[in-house]
Amino acid sequence: MASKNICFLLPAVLSILALSPAEAFVLKQGQEYSGTDPARLLSEYVQIPSVSGSEKEAGEFLEAFCRENGLYTRVFTDREDSYNFAASLYPLDQNKPNIIFLTHIDVVPPGDEDGWTYPPFSGKIADGMVWGRGAIDNKAMGVMQVLAILEYTALARETDLPYNVSLLAVSGEETGGDMGARIIAYEFLEELNPVVVFGEGGAGISGLLPSLPDMVVFGIEVEQKRRMFLEITSGATTSGHGSIPRKRYATREVVSASNALIEAIPAISVSPSVSESMYRLSYYERGIIKRAMKNIDFLAPLFGRFIREDPIVASMVTNTMALTSLSSAEGAYNQIPADARAVFDCRLLPATCEDEFLEEIKRIVSPWEVNINVLSSSPPAPVSPQGMFYHALEESLFSVFGEIEVIPFLFVAINDNRFFRRRGIPSYGLLPAIMPEELMESIHYFDERFPVESLNKGIEVYVNLIYNILNNKE
Ligand SMILES: [Zn+2]
Repeated sequence: MASKNICFLLPAVLSILALSPAEAFVLKQGQEYSGTDPARLLSEYVQIPSVSGSEKEAGEFLEAFCRENGLYTRVFTDREDSYNFAASLYPLDQNKPNIIFLTHIDVVPPGDEDGWTYPPFSGKIADGMVWGRGAIDNKAMGVMQVLAILEYTALARETDLPYNVSLLAVSGEETGGDMGARIIAYEFLEELNPVVVFGEGGAGISGLLPSLPDMVVFGIEVEQKRRMFLEITSGATTSGHGSIPRKRYATREVVSASNALIEAIPAISVSPSVSESMYRLSYYERGIIKRAMKNIDFLAPLFGRFIREDPIVASMVTNTMALTSLSSAEGAYNQIPADARAVFDCRLLPATCEDEFLEEIKRIVSPWEVNINVLSSSPPAPVSPQGMFYHALEESLFSVFGEIEVIPFLFVAINDNRFFRRRGIPSYGLLPAIMPEELMESIHYFDERFPVESLNKGIEVYVNLIYNILNNKE
């Protein structure tokens, strides 16, 4: 149920735009969120296991909750392994420009139950936390998003708002998005009519600034690296006895070429979002660190060795290659196998030209008799601009969390936002919560858990975000 006291204020608020959202209706300090208990909703949602491939039951639970609370739901695909729906303030056939809150229903497997303090699908509420697989990734976000949207149902009925707002809950994010976001972005985009997508990506973390380790920095993902799986096989067909190894044979060629790729020194390239975030954060630093951060584009290549030493920094300014599979036919131990294969997981910076990257790979492995084959590669996507939607989110974070910094952010893994960016829809990735390291580590691991207090803050962020966008409409 949406909280009446807050919704009641909304029409008045929107007619007096001079009021800041903080004054107007968002949860004030000390004021309890008075709608559905977010912790209980999250707990119940976590209790329905939804490991990728079996999302339907958890999806139906969330869909029913949305529908029973006054949202218009549209189930796009209804299968055990592909359950995707939208829940909106207005029916989609009104075709209003739509603000999309994107969340995924699926979770990764819990692993060994013995590793958990409470059973992984218990949804236990204890120590101020909701515990269980999916508590953070991504069910907390879904709960915060839907409860924020519900704050606007009464207003949407009374007023003809310029935008629709939809929760878009999808399957299969953890397995690449083919059963969820990809289907929506390529088959139902017109019906959904999104003008912006707010999905997962960054979060609020501390420890980034050497001079101010306690300062919380929220990174809003505006772009991400592209993934390319590369296969290296050998055509050297000198199978034979291990006692007289030839000059070239498959396993040796593949291992040597792979080693050359692993040892190759990657070029450093600073993306605009990385350079801008460094520039913004340099404000808090002094001396040489300040100067280095301010001029990162220019200086980064000079500090190449230092930068490549740090895996996290390196992943943000270089194309990375990880050898993720190495195999050959297994015969007798004295028999040289006829073929061998290696697979690399390559992550390309957004500005990298795929053809040039492949040319460079071929040059590096040219001394060996190997074939390079691209198993799959994701197409490029435009960087989402720091325009009105970005600023609406930024403003909302400032008003809820106060003394923080907000930066644009390059995501080095992939998530569902990429499908919408490719379709030209600006997409911003952020879990609106401050995430201490121990909680970050619980994602995809044991004892995943999310603080009840953070649920309330996150709802506030999304409520403010909608408010800011509604008031920005020209
Ligand atoms: Zn996720």
